[in-house]
Amino acid sequence: MRISIIGTGYVGLTAGVGLASKEHDVKCVDIDEKKVEQINEGVCPIYEEDLPELMEETISNERLEASLDTKEAVRNSEVTFLCVGTPRQEDGTINLENIKKAARDAAEGLKEKDEFHMFVVKSTVIPGTTEDQIIPILEKETGKEVGEDFGVCMNPEFLREGNALDDFLNPDRIVIGEYDEKSGDILEQIYTDFETQILRTSLKAAELIKYASNSLLATKVSFINEIGNLCKELNIDVYEVADGIGLDERVNREFLDSGPGWGGSCFPKDVNALISFMSEKGVDSQVLESVIRQNEDHKTKLVELLEDEIDVSGKRIAILGLAFKPGTDDIRNSPAIDIIEELKEKDAKVKAYDPQAMENMQDIHKDIEYTDSAAEAMKDSHAALIVTHWDEFHDLTMQDLDEMEKPLVVEGRKMDYDILEEHTKGITWP
Ligand code: NAD
Repeated sequence: MRISIIGTGYVGLTAGVGLASKEHDVKCVDIDEKKVEQINEGVCPIYEEDLPELMEETISNERLEASLDTKEAVRNSEVTFLCVGTPRQEDGTINLENIKKAARDAAEGLKEKDEFHMFVVKSTVIPGTTEDQIIPILEKETGKEVGEDFGVCMNPEFLREGNALDDFLNPDRIVIGEYDEKSGDILEQIYTDFETQILRTSLKAAELIKYASNSLLATKVSFINEIGNLCKELNIDVYEVADGIGLDERVNREFLDSGPGWGGSCFPKDVNALISFMSEKGVDSQVLESVIRQNEDHKTKLVELLEDEIDVSGKRIAILGLAFKPGTDDIRNSPAIDIIEELKEKDAKVKAYDPQAMENMQDIHKDIEYTDSAAEAMKDSHAALIVTHWDEFHDLTMQDLDEMEKPLVVEGRKMDYDILEEHTKGITWP
C-alpha cells in the first residue's frame, strides 16, 4: 500500500521504516526541515538499535522517503498514519495543537482525492479525541463524510524506546479501534504478516487501552520501588522479592525491576493526562495520584543515599547514564535531570557521561562537565551514581574505582558487580 506518516519522531519514523520493510511505499512527513533532510540523506535522526540500517535499506530500495509536504503525501497515498507529538501541558492535560494542525493539513490532501482514504491515529490521545476532534476536522475541512469518503481507526502504539523497531515489528498485540468495520478491515490488512494477536475495539476503547496500559506499567514500577524502600530498611534485595512475586503468572516479572524511578516521554505524560481526564469525568484517581507522588519522591533517592555516605558540597560526583533508559538518547523526564539539579543545589560538581544522551542533556544542564567515558567521569570523583543501566557500565573495573578520590558507587540500577561489591551501594538493595 501507499502509506503516508505524519510526524516522524520515535513512533512515526519507526512505523515508517517498519512498514517500508514490509514492502509498503512510505512517505514520512515532518515539519522539522533538518529531520527530513537527514532522513533523505540516510542519516537516522534518533538513536535506536537497528533503525539506521533498516532506514538506509528502505531508502535505497525506494520504499521510504521523507517530505515536508503533508498535503501531497496524503493525496498520493491510500492510508495516513498520524504520529505527531501530543505533549503534556502544565495542568496535566495533553496539547492537541500538533495533531489538529496535522489533521487540517491532511484534509487539504484528502480534499483533492476522489478515492476512499484511510486515516489512522497513532498518537496517544485521550478517549474521545478521534471521534470528537479529529473526525470533525477532516469532515469540516473537506466536506467529505467519514464512513463514506474516508475511514478512521485509532491504533495505539506500544513500542518501547530503546527497542522500538523490534517492538513495532514484533508486538505483543495490535489494537485496532475502528470507526466502522470497513476501516478496521483496511488497517488489519496492513498488519496481515505481523504474527501477533489483533484486538478490534471501538475508537474510544483503543484510546483508553493505551493510557491504561502505560498507567499500569508505571504503577508496577512505583509499587516495586516502594517495596524496595522497605527492602533497603530490612537490608534485603528487592530483586529477590521481585523474582518471588514475578513467578506468579497473574503478576509476571516484567516491570518489577526497581530503580531510580520512571521517566521518559510517555509514562509521566500519560499518567498525568489520565488523571486529568478522570477528574474531568468526575472519577477518583487515588491509585494513579499516589503512583506519581511515589515516583516524584523516589527520583532523588539516590542523592539521599549518597548523602548518608558523604557531604556532597564541593565534591565531584560522577553521573553515569543520562537517558531515561538504556538504548535511547531520549532524556525526557529522566531521573538524571532531577538528580543533577539536586546535586547542583547542594553545590556538588557534576561530571556526567552517557553513551548517547549527552547532547540532549546539554540543552537542560549546560553548566556541568561532560566526559568521553565512564572512566573519565569517575576519575578523581568522590562518588559515582549509576542512573541508566547501559551495558558498558557493567565493565567498570577496580582500576576505575582506584582512580576515584573515594571508591564509592551508588547504583540506581542493579549492576551485579562481583569485584566491586564492597564499594557499591544499591538504591533499594544492600
Ligand atoms: P516525537 O516528539 O519524537 O515526534 C513527533 C514528531 O512530530 C516531531 O518530529 C515533530 O516535528 C512532528 N510534528 C509535530 N507537528 C507536526 C505537524 N503538524 N506535521 C508534521 N509533523 C509534525 O514524538 P514521539 O515520541 O514519536 O510520539 C508521538 C506520539 O506517539 C505521541 O502521542 C506519543 O505519546 C505517542 N507514543 C510515543 C511512544 C514513545 O516511546 N516515544 C510510544 C508510544 C506512543
